Amino acid sequence: MNKIKKTDEQWRAELTPEQYHVLREKGTERPFSGEYDHTFEPGTYRCAGCGVELFSSETKYDSGCGWPAFNAPASEEAVDKKRDIGFGMIRTEVLCASCGGHLGHVFPDGPHPTGQRYCINSAALKLEEE
Ligand code: FE
Repeated sequence: MNKIKKTDEQWRAELTPEQYHVLREKGTERPFSGEYDHTFEPGTYRCAGCGVELFSSETKYDSGCGWPAFNAPASEEAVDKKRDIGFGMIRTEVLCASCGGHLGHVFPDGPHPTGQRYCINSAALKLEEE
């Protein structure tokens, strides 16, 4: 289903170790450590793996959870969602629909109007400021 296919070797060569860990190994950066946790500049958040538009700064809010939070993706087609039963929790994983990279998780405790909290690793994103 992913439009972009690369070998593990290619991903390792293109991504920083932190980006690789999050996007390709489904890692999680330490809370409050990410580049965009407290960034609210206007712009477009693109996938750090493949560059597609994933989120807009207009949907970003300060959730206090330690990671960038958005109440919606740029479009429903931009992301894939998958049930994740790892670490003894039932969560919904969020992936880049284009390259399959792991982005974070979505929780049903977000603000009005969507009620969704897309909790996304900074390392999975690249902000293109306006
Ligand atoms: Fe991607």
